[in-house]
Amino acid sequence: MHLLEVKNLAINFKTYGGEVKAVRDVSFHVDEGEVVAIVGESGSGKSVTAQSIMGLVPRPPGIIKGGSIIFKEQELLHMTRKEMRKIKGSKISMVFQDPMTSLNPTMRIGKQIEENLFSHKKMSKKQVKKKAIELLRQVDIPNPESRYEQYPHQFSGGMRQRAMIAIALACEPDLLIADEPTTALDVTIQAQVLELMRELQKETNTSIILITHDLGVVAEMAQSVAVMYGGMLVEKGTVNDIFHHSAHPYTRGLLKSIPNVESTEKKKLVPIKGSPPDLFSPPKGCPFAPRCKYAMDVCIDHMPPEFEIGNNHTARCWLNHTHAPGIDEFESRSEPL
Ligand code: SF4
Repeated sequence: MHLLEVKNLAINFKTYGGEVKAVRDVSFHVDEGEVVAIVGESGSGKSVTAQSIMGLVPRPPGIIKGGSIIFKEQELLHMTRKEMRKIKGSKISMVFQDPMTSLNPTMRIGKQIEENLFSHKKMSKKQVKKKAIELLRQVDIPNPESRYEQYPHQFSGGMRQRAMIAIALACEPDLLIADEPTTALDVTIQAQVLELMRELQKETNTSIILITHDLGVVAEMAQSVAVMYGGMLVEKGTVNDIFHHSAHPYTRGLLKSIPNVESTEKKKLVPIKGSPPDLFSPPKGCPFAPRCKYAMDVCIDHMPPEFEIGNNHTARCWLNHTHAPGIDEFESRSEPL
């Protein structure tokens, strides 16, 4: 039994211009203690998918068109607000990209951590304060006793993100959703926050869904990867499958567009040409077809199914059909994407 199972999830948003099909037929799972990265460009549907797990998709304008989200054998999509409140913060927590928008600027940091503990745990005032200071120490905030009394604006960007992590971990959740947790930080602080998350994950065995556009972060943190494009999950597998045996041209394009700091070989970075599909009326075939140099006739008219490449490795690309030439054959005879 998986800790979380998302099956055939579909989410639209009503706008004046029509309905945006933000998430289409997305399925993946997260096991206990596993770190799953969801990768994709902005607008690919990764954040909406994560928000739907936390019950944060506003309805309206959001409409759940179909699918299910099962967490610990309970259907999250059918829960009332009250039931969801019990789960949020205690069993599933979220760390957002910009802590300044999610921290309360008028409340001391210590009190914000305590608030989460008070709502979900039966603890005395004294115990809660002790735990809040302990959590600040755990996320490497220096002088936690005096920092406990301070407001978010008195913290640096990196410390605010650490404080957010402390709040998210306060009730020892089973699942932590981190939505671009280091994007707003400078590179050195990014590395420190990632290191902290990695250490805490090892200590607590918390499962993590890491939303990111940064494949470097994925390689550092995750065991499994789900690649999203145009509201769909186009490839999923282990980090090794995705980085070394990718079976989708979009994933290969993404990999070619990131610098490899470990490699001594000088390789040219190749951006993926073109723009993502219009999600008001997405193409009926493969959403990547207009940007894909391997596109065949079938790709334009028919949506590729999820082809099984290996154990838990799937790719939505016709090149994986038994009678297709195969992506490696195509790659060897053509210019890179
Ligand atoms: Fe390219 Fe066709 Fe594969 Fe889509 S299905 S990625 S268009 S080859």
